Amino acid sequence: MPAAHPPEDELRRSIVEASARVIALGLSQGTSGNISVRFGDGFLVTPSGIPPEDLAPEHIVPMDFSGRHAHPLAPSSEWRFHRDILASRPEIGAVVHAHPPYATGFAICGREIPAVHYMIAMAGGPTIRCAPYAPYGTEALSEAALAALEGRSCCLLANHGMIATGPDLAKALWLAVEVEALCRQYAIALQVGTPVLLDDAEIARTVERFKSYGPRRIDTPAPDVAVGQEDRTGQA
Ligand code: 13P
Ligand code: ZN
Repeated sequence: MPAAHPPEDELRRSIVEASARVIALGLSQGTSGNISVRFGDGFLVTPSGIPPEDLAPEHIVPMDFSGRHAHPLAPSSEWRFHRDILASRPEIGAVVHAHPPYATGFAICGREIPAVHYMIAMAGGPTIRCAPYAPYGTEALSEAALAALEGRSCCLLANHGMIATGPDLAKALWLAVEVEALCRQYAIALQVGTPVLLDDAEIARTVERFKSYGPRRIDTPAPDVAVGQEDRTGQA
């Protein structure tokens, strides 16, 4: 039986809570950033220009994939990239856009994040790409973001910020936190010395291992044990 979708009220509340978390975690400030969650034949998206402390569940705007809505508040100015990501990537259920300091610092320099840590595998590949600059709220920005997200779950937006996605909102928010942590670690490493990069094959193996990562009972075998042994043999 397919998993039941949370009811609309619950999704609206979770978007309001996640918006407040984004600010509390220092991932955005003021009215920067926005969130969407797949719902029915379309999606729910934060309204434009309302700071999370003033946001209420009834402010969340339902939209369809042609960009139509019937809500008194205007949807986020970035509804196009939210719509385009959700419409073209069926595995994605939620999109978090933020302007976090370290990720945005690299985005200001137009720099992609290389494989400085095994956690880059959470992006789905060995880099977090940086989409070229396009003005906020435009179709051009949406196109650039979609290209940077190809085969990836997150990207930077030049001179702007970052996008993190996930199968649900909790995972998209988790990824946003991890991307910012990775960018912070990379910024520190660049100050300390010359970062040592992991190779593509190691990141490909880590992408596979992540598929079985998570809490598990100790009396069940680890699904990735063979990969772990290979690693140890390789290192000896
Ligand atoms: P909105 O308030 O319209 O969502 O815009 C914030 C933002 O981050 C634009 O990129
Ligand atoms: Zn933005």
